[in-house]
Amino acid sequence: MKILICLSNVPDTTTKIKFTGDNTQFDAAGVQWIINPWDELALTRALEIKETSGTTIEKVTVLTVGKADTEPTLRKALAIGADDAVRIDAEPKDAYQVAAQITGFVKEQPYDIILCGIESSDYNGSTVGGMLAEFLDSPSVSSVSGLFLENGQIRLNREIDGGQEVLETMIPFVAIVQKGIAKEPRIPSMRGIMMARSKPLTVKPAVAADELTGFTAFELPPPHAKCKMIDAENVGELVKVFRNELKII
Ligand SMILES: Cc1cc2nc3c(=O)[nH]c(=O)nc-3n(C[C@H](O)[C@H](O)[C@H](O)COP(=O)(O)OP(=O)(O)OC[C@H]3O[C@@H](n4cnc5c(N)ncnc54)[C@H](O)[C@@H]3O)c2cc1C
Repeated sequence: MKILICLSNVPDTTTKIKFTGDNTQFDAAGVQWIINPWDELALTRALEIKETSGTTIEKVTVLTVGKADTEPTLRKALAIGADDAVRIDAEPKDAYQVAAQITGFVKEQPYDIILCGIESSDYNGSTVGGMLAEFLDSPSVSSVSGLFLENGQIRLNREIDGGQEVLETMIPFVAIVQKGIAKEPRIPSMRGIMMARSKPLTVKPAVAADELTGFTAFELPPPHAKCKMIDAENVGELVKVFRNELKII
């Protein structure tokens, strides 16, 4: 079996978000890019399964749709333990276009298990995984927080209100994973970083697929009100602020 992890290259979660062009474009200047946190957990789980499955899992591939500047993120995934990486040479424009690019690749080189994150931490569309499954005419399971390979059978756990669903699926399938799929993301070791340099990173040309949507403008949330410090002993002052300024009592 082969596992494919779709990786979104996203700004570090501590990035101060700015826009340019009259708030129509994200300003990428000085941004540190990382693997989307959900995709990093998906990769970790895929590696855990590969390591405990004997020879059942042949390889774990990571894939991103992006330009050359996304390659350090793919190299990090290789350092964490992925066997090979694929970059589809296209600027991500919308979920349809990204899913269409991944579909083009998977139709050429099929995978048994395809993992997508529940959302990317930058544009938060939560759309690519579902679209990909539809384009591939493949079973898909959303909100997956557990993935197990037992005697050649796939078992998936889904979080539901107040409980958990346990499902089996045929392969190939797409799982859209969330928190819980792995406990902690793996940190690349020095050996992993050295090995990543010689692991294959293949660049594939984009397939023809135009975006269907586009952003017209972005708006930042209003700045937080200035923090007012009140002495822990001064309960009277705290009550006054609650009553007169915040009007919550
Ligand atoms: C550099 C850059 C420039 C962009 N410019 C534009 C623009 O000009 N106009 C515009 O409308 N939008 C732009 N986008 C945003 C683009 O629309 C989204 O990245 C795309 O729609 C995916 O949607 P999402 O990020 O909400 O993914 P979600 O659906 O939230 O992602 C879910 C999962 O899908 C997979 N996935 C998502 N993106 C990728 C990817 N690129 N490669 C592989 N797997 C992926 C991951 O597994 C991820 O966890 C840009 C994004 C980037 C990174």
